[in-house]
Amino acid sequence: KYYNMVEDMKGKIRVYCRVRPLSSTEKANKNKYAVQTPDDYTIKIEMNRGGLKEFQFDQIFAENSSQETVFEDTHSLIQSAVDGYNVCIFAYGQTGSGKTYTMIGDGSQKAPGIAPRAFNRIFEIVQKNQKKFTFTVSCYMLELYNEKLVDLLNVSKGNESKLDIKKDNKGMVVINGTEIVYTENADELYKTFSKGSENRHTSSTKMNDASSRSHLVVGVVIESTNLTTGAVTRGKLSLVDLAGSERVGKTGASAGQLKEANSINKSLSALGDVISALSSEQSFIPYRNNKLTLLMQDSLGGNAKTLMFVNVSPADYNSDESAISLTYASRVK
Ligand code: ADP
Ligand code: MG
Repeated sequence: KYYNMVEDMKGKIRVYCRVRPLSSTEKANKNKYAVQTPDDYTIKIEMNRGGLKEFQFDQIFAENSSQETVFEDTHSLIQSAVDGYNVCIFAYGQTGSGKTYTMIGDGSQKAPGIAPRAFNRIFEIVQKNQKKFTFTVSCYMLELYNEKLVDLLNVSKGNESKLDIKKDNKGMVVINGTEIVYTENADELYKTFSKGSENRHTSSTKMNDASSRSHLVVGVVIESTNLTTGAVTRGKLSLVDLAGSERVGKTGASAGQLKEANSINKSLSALGDVISALSSEQSFIPYRNNKLTLLMQDSLGGNAKTLMFVNVSPADYNSDESAISLTYASRVK
C-alpha cells in the first residue's frame, strides 16, 4: 500500500497520527481514555465539554501499534534518501505525547524508534549495493533553542554564533561551521547520534523533560558514486523531534519559560505557514521567516518527501491540546 504512495509523495507531505497508550500513572489516576479510532484514517477526540472532534489523516497508529509497525510504514522513505531524495520525518505534538518515543525510542534498547532503525536500514542498503556504488554517509546534529542553533556534535564554546544556514549549488541545506561526522556503519552512526543527544539543552522548566523545549534536527547525508558512470548522487534523511507544542500558561511561568514558549510558538507557526503554503500550492513559500523553516527548507516542498507524525495523548485531561495538535496537522492536507 505505502510503496505505491511513495512515488507521488514528491513535494507532498503525508501525515500520520500516532496515539500513545495511557501511562500507568494516568491509569492509576483513573484518567479517561478520550480517543476513538474507528478506522485506519479517522480519529475522534472526546472533548471535556462534551462532543467529539473528528480528524482524518493518511494513517492512524492506535495505542497498540508497535515501533516495528510504525517503521514498516516508513522504511521505503529510507531507500528514497539513499536514492538521492531529501527525505524528512518529523514529529509534532505536546510534551509527553510520544514524539521522542516515535522518532528515537524510549531510551532503552527494547523499543527503538525510527532513528536507530533508519540508521540500520541505510547501511543495509549501502551493503547490498557495494558492487555498483561507493557510498559515504555523514551526519550533523543541531538543536534549535530560543532561536539559537547549537551544534550538538561540537559543543565547544562560542561555536553557535558561527553557524550559518546556507544552501549548496544543488539546493541542499548546509550549515556552515557545523561539525560533520563521517560514519562507516550503523553502529558508528548510532554512537555519534547518542553522543549528540547527551549534549541536548537542559533547562530548569517545570516540564518533565528538558529536551522538550528545543527542536532537534539530525541530518544524515548519503552520497553515492556510480562505479561505472562516475555519477554522484546525494540524498539526505532529516529526522526532526520538535519542541512540545503545548501552550504555556502565563500564570506561574518565569520570564525564561515565557521566552522559551514564545520562541517555540513562533517556530511552530512558521512551520505551519510553510506547510499550508505548500499544500495550497502557493508560489511564495515563507521559509525565511524562521530558523526552523530555514533548516528544514530542503526537506519541505520541491522534490522532498516529507512525513509528519502528529503525536497525541489519549488522556481526557489532554483533550484540548490533542484537538489543537490535530487541527495544526490538518492544515497540511
Ligand atoms: P514527547 O517526546 O512527546 O515529550 P515521549 O516520547 O517522551 O513524549 O513520551 C512520553 C512517555 O510516554 C514516555 O515515557 C514514553 O516512553 C511513553 N510512550 C510514548 N509513546 C508510547 C507508545 N506508543 N507506547 C508506549 N509508551 C509510549
Ligand atoms: Mg521528547
